[in-house]
Amino acid sequence: MKEIFLLKEGEIALKGLNKRNFEEAFIKNLRHRLKPLGKFEYTRAQSTVYVVPGEDVDVDEAFSRCCKVFGAAAVCRAVVCEKSMESIAETAVEYLGDELSCKRTFKVEAKRSDKHFPLKSPEICAELGGILLDKFTNLSVDVKNPEITVTVEIRDTNAYVHAVRVSGAGGIPVGTSGKAMLLLSGGIDSPVAAYMMAKRGICVEAIHFAAPPYTSERARLKVERLCEKLTPYCGDIKFFCVPFTKIQEALRDNCPEELFTIIMRRLMMEIAQRVAAKEDCMALITGESVGQVASQTLGAMVCTDAACRIPVFRPVIGMDKTEIIEISRKIDTFETSIEPYEDCCTVFTPKHPKTRPILEEVVKAQESFDFEPLIAEAVENTELKVIKL
Ligand code: ATP
Ligand code: MG
Repeated sequence: MKEIFLLKEGEIALKGLNKRNFEEAFIKNLRHRLKPLGKFEYTRAQSTVYVVPGEDVDVDEAFSRCCKVFGAAAVCRAVVCEKSMESIAETAVEYLGDELSCKRTFKVEAKRSDKHFPLKSPEICAELGGILLDKFTNLSVDVKNPEITVTVEIRDTNAYVHAVRVSGAGGIPVGTSGKAMLLLSGGIDSPVAAYMMAKRGICVEAIHFAAPPYTSERARLKVERLCEKLTPYCGDIKFFCVPFTKIQEALRDNCPEELFTIIMRRLMMEIAQRVAAKEDCMALITGESVGQVASQTLGAMVCTDAACRIPVFRPVIGMDKTEIIEISRKIDTFETSIEPYEDCCTVFTPKHPKTRPILEEVVKAQESFDFEPLIAEAVENTELKVIKL
């Protein structure tokens, strides 16, 4: 039977006059994500987006993609039928018969948003429940803990029968909150940071610092693969790769070793915000979490932030590593993140980095060498690649 998807809006449903813009962004993102799978029709009504797959579409894959697009609180697979009890019962038997015949307990739930429908919700449940009990002698009703729930929705133009309802991706549609530039390493934390900001509607672009030959081509490819893994949630990602070697060498040769990491991070921020400005990105994003490593103490963050002219978002700042890992497993970046490749941050790392750097000292040390020409050159030679789903 031909299935369609009902995407129940989450926060979007609560948006007042702006609701239409959010819905349009949601549908635009869905279209983009589903287009490679074939033709789909999209309509919206009553805080629900209806996605109707065309012929020859891989419905399972399409459904799984819909579940990753931010904007829906819940996603259902359903079959459409006429708004009559006969048609609803017939559809339920035909659509769910195979499943119903191998379950022991069930219940029926009804939602009637069309109040002109002659039966009230409890009456719909009673009537359909009775029909299914007669038809499937293996079944009994269990309203508390049923093995299968048959849901009937009576909406404006049609009725819908479904038994699959899963959580949607939540959040608000990517693109409705502007753009920000993510500092993306090959680690576990920064991809999770991307996911979290995209969930709040931010269009994420990514910048990565590579230091060949200290870091390998394969390390860079790993970061590109992380971007690929993020596209089901973030959409296409503009990926900028900065040649960082000369800067790191200059830093090693000219600055006190114990301040190496902190100055390096300030220089990363400087370059990131210059690229961000060109891209109209209004903020930076990092995967930092307080106290995780020496460069993530409050004192170190004060020193890095002092180099920033735009806000720095750190969505995992208050999370434990185990909590971050849980999300990275959920979004399927974990296995890629733990592949053992070098990162430019681990090149020339000091034995004893300062955990309580003093801003004035850091600035003075940084100013003792003129990094500007190298910064300008790095920005100039930054490579762009668009990572598509
Ligand atoms: P992650 O797991 O994200 O790599 P981490 O715990 O390893 O983080 P650091 O290596 O100190 O921590 O990096 C902190 C943050 O700095 C990262 O989350 C990322 O946002 C940014 N960062 C680190 N290395 C790079 C890099 N090579 N390119 C771009 N950003 C980087
Ligand atoms: Mg790292």
